[in-house]
Amino acid sequence: MAMQEQAIAWRQAGEDIGFVPTMGALHAGHERLVTRARRENQRVIVSIFVNPTQFGPNEDFASYPRSFEADRARLEALGVDAIFNPSVDQIYPSSFKTRVDPGPLAELLEGKSRPGHFAGVLTVVLKLFQLTQPKRAYFGQKDFQQVVLVRQLVRDFALPVRIVAVPTVREPDGLAISSRNAYLGPPQRAVAPSIHNALDGASNAFGAGVTDPAELEAIVRHLLDGTPGVAIDYVAVVDDTTLRRPVRTIAGNVLAVAVKLGPIRLIDNVVLGAERL
Ligand code: AMP
Repeated sequence: MAMQEQAIAWRQAGEDIGFVPTMGALHAGHERLVTRARRENQRVIVSIFVNPTQFGPNEDFASYPRSFEADRARLEALGVDAIFNPSVDQIYPSSFKTRVDPGPLAELLEGKSRPGHFAGVLTVVLKLFQLTQPKRAYFGQKDFQQVVLVRQLVRDFALPVRIVAVPTVREPDGLAISSRNAYLGPPQRAVAPSIHNALDGASNAFGAGVTDPAELEAIVRHLLDGTPGVAIDYVAVVDDTTLRRPVRTIAGNVLAVAVKLGPIRLIDNVVLGAERL
């Protein structure tokens, strides 16, 4: 049965569908999303689709890691009900024309460095939601701005889906797990935990009473400036809905960073005032 028919049949039978969109190359971060979805829904659908429209012309679409057989084995072990692995043609047939305009929040942070990225993300997310009919959809806090924009999409178009943000899964040394970590050579991998350490430093300062966003950002910059091979793209304290910088930082604001380690761009963030990173 086609994915959408199957999903509609499940919903008509009164079963809740939990949906986890991914680009494959699955790791422990994705697994956390799937486990959460498994716990909260009768049916779980995981999509594996490397979405061409969210990659810029100079980004890594062609070389993005693809490992379908290994991914399938992981997902079967987690007991998912369906793996949706459409072709590019299935999602974007030659007749496809409409695109979601993600609005002003897509101009900030990641959007500034990756023009068109969120238009591609929201376009595919809207289509995947239609194809999988989820009651709940699971996204990682690691891609914090993506969560904010998907929530905006859901509100703006009154989509009947609840967005669940799942805390970032980390390596034992603090590095946020990412499919792109596979690109890091040993010297880059060795310094990569400094990103998390810098966030941790600012988070501790916030815990100790520092509320000036510029001061918190400066702490992160200072800690990263001392790390060889790390080039900062942005460091920003922002409100978790508007993405604006607050006048004074409050618990729940997000401290987000993007850095380049050689050619590899990594992002990470922490919710300030949360119990743990
Ligand atoms: P991707 O396959 O990179 O598009 O990621 C699919 C989903 O997994 C997105 O919602 C990501 O935010 C989420 N994700 C990626 N890495 C992690 C991680 N380390 N912890 C939690 N969620 C993650």
